[in-house]
Amino acid sequence: MAEKSFKYVIVGGGVAAGYAAREFAKQGVKPGELAIISKEAVAPYERPALSKAYLFPEGISLILSTEIVKADLASKTVISAAGETFKYQILIIATGSTVIRLSDFGVQGADAKNIFYLREIDEADELVKAIKAKKNGKAVIVGGGYIGLELSAALRINNFDVSMVFPEPWCTANMYVFIVPRLFTAGIAAFYEGYYANKGIKIIKGTVAVGFGTEMGKDGTVLEADIVVVGVGGKPLTTLFKDRLTRKRVGLRQMVITKPAYTKKSPNRFDAFFKTSVPDVYAVGDVATFPMKLYGETRRVEHVDHARKSAEQAVKAIFASEQGKSISEYDYLPYFYSRSFDLSWQFYGDNVGESVLFGDSRPESPTHKFGSYWIKDGKVVGAFLESGTPEENKAIAKVARVQPPVSSLDQLAAEGLTFASKI
Ligand SMILES: Cc1cc2nc3c(=O)[nH]c(=O)nc-3n(C[C@H](O)[C@H](O)[C@H](O)COP(=O)(O)OP(=O)(O)OC[C@H]3O[C@@H](n4cnc5c(N)ncnc54)[C@H](O)[C@@H]3O)c2cc1C
Repeated sequence: MAEKSFKYVIVGGGVAAGYAAREFAKQGVKPGELAIISKEAVAPYERPALSKAYLFPEGISLILSTEIVKADLASKTVISAAGETFKYQILIIATGSTVIRLSDFGVQGADAKNIFYLREIDEADELVKAIKAKKNGKAVIVGGGYIGLELSAALRINNFDVSMVFPEPWCTANMYVFIVPRLFTAGIAAFYEGYYANKGIKIIKGTVAVGFGTEMGKDGTVLEADIVVVGVGGKPLTTLFKDRLTRKRVGLRQMVITKPAYTKKSPNRFDAFFKTSVPDVYAVGDVATFPMKLYGETRRVEHVDHARKSAEQAVKAIFASEQGKSISEYDYLPYFYSRSFDLSWQFYGDNVGESVLFGDSRPESPTHKFGSYWIKDGKVVGAFLESGTPEENKAIAKVARVQPPVSSLDQLAAEGLTFASKI
């Protein structure tokens, strides 16, 4: 098999790869210097919308339907399933996440027909086809994370009889269904559950799917379904690189593939530029563990805003180092969002410590404008807002960044958005 050689190679063709490509183009990458190798058959696209808004500039080699199955970082080569060899000078790992399947938990019949997951565009197309074919049918959504919430709404809008099933005591809006802390507090979740119930969605909590075809639900509940959509989280695709990148100092702790943990005492400069512990190898997006400067600790974030920004940061860092320049460190403020029905929320910061709810969080509220603050060590560290205006969302982002002190939680709850607008 022929060997191809590029100055820069990105393995992965998702959001981070798309934004990296755009930044490469901005920085003036020359034709033929950059290749993106993706196992998907289409150019990088905006995954949350799963739309066909491709993110791809011209002049870049796009090598599609090509899965990298081996990486030899010592000889700077990656090899595809078909045996093609790609040589690079600089590698960017942007392999993202894969969905967790119910068969991973040993759920019986989990491979049955009409059980859908949603990660790639093909899966979205399949689901749309099934929705058309099973018009006005019954749908069961497994998982109370944000994908479960968004898909329940989408199916209900398509006139499906929808039931949501999840193991927690309330819906969480997490990416991972089984992790704590949950993004939604009980107070926030009560609004969405009530709102969804008013839209005719049945919510079955505190139970897990144990089988398909015969029974469903640990408590013996059987639900009929024409379509089952599963959204129980993702896991980062790091196995290709894990051994090589984690052996040194980092260990196998939580699939860390960037440089060793960041501490306030010894911040590692290169961490903030998405360089891994292997020279000339960068990792961005869902797979990257990086120093969250604001909290003085190392984290991994599976959200699109970080996928975009980390990719841009890494490419800027690559060009800056080639020109002997430096750029500022990555200083990320966590930002998540979701939309369903006529609802739309944003969250900034950290959901730790105590929380207070403010605004009108009754499910039947005409404005459904409400929110929550998280308070740790006397400071507001996180803020959530449903149905905020752009200015209000900006204000809560500022709160999460500035972390203003608060003396009374009751007063904070009473002030609500006014508190944010003063910061
Ligand atoms: C349905 C859905 C809705 C979402 N909604 C939101 C939202 O509302 N808000 C939000 O903040 N986040 C959302 N996310 C999460 C967000 O999309 C991800 O955090 C983001 O896509 C991560 O970007 P990435 O480039 O790291 O990974 P991905 O976008 O997953 O891209 C990884 C790419 O690598 C390719 N790949 C993997 N392994 C190989 C290999 N060995 N060889 C070649 N190619 C490989 C994959 O095929 C894929 O093209 C959503 C995700 C999904 C699936």
